[in-house]
Amino acid sequence: MTADSASPFDPHRQNHPPDLDHKIVASLERLSGVFRHLLWQEATHSGLSPLQLQVVVFLRFHAPSQGTVSNLAREYRVSRATISDAVKALAQKALVSRHTDPADLRSHSLQLTPAGEQLADQSSRFAAPLTPPVAALPPRQKLSLYLSLLTMLHQLQQAGTIPVQRMCFSCRHYGRRPGQHFCHLLNIPLESHELRIDCPEHDAALW
Ligand code: SF4
Repeated sequence: MTADSASPFDPHRQNHPPDLDHKIVASLERLSGVFRHLLWQEATHSGLSPLQLQVVVFLRFHAPSQGTVSNLAREYRVSRATISDAVKALAQKALVSRHTDPADLRSHSLQLTPAGEQLADQSSRFAAPLTPPVAALPPRQKLSLYLSLLTMLHQLQQAGTIPVQRMCFSCRHYGRRPGQHFCHLLNIPLESHELRIDCPEHDAALW
């Protein structure tokens, strides 16, 4: 069996000899399970499906121009029909409304109603149990973790495994200057901790 074909979930493969790559992948799977569980728990509490809750939270924190069915389908890697069903259910619960762009009558964006905003504000804290363990990490370890995660997400995006991430490494305004990152749109150097994972000004780079 080659290293690539070995399962990272095989404890023997993880430990004999110790394989940090497999242990990290297995650890990330555990963390994704925590997210899934917390999301499901909050969705059940709010009377929504997990996807409906994700849509509500996304709309709460992103520009109206990003609140389209096609963008949400890309974001959550589901079909447009699946997002449309979720939106229909949210509209029936009076949490979301559909708005037509006066400049382009074929273009619709979704917006939260006041009740939708209220629910989003409460429910978007579902991942709060993960914050204390992150906050407790020593600063250098935290920064190293953040850079590692950004690098992994960028590589997964380049491989086509995940959609475009709204982060600096995949932005056409991102550049490098000796010893520093640089945003050519904002015209400012960026320290490593200032690199963005979800930037409102992000503009996808063409590869
Ligand atoms: S526009 Fe945003 S994502 Fe792009 S480089 Fe600047 S800070 Fe980063």
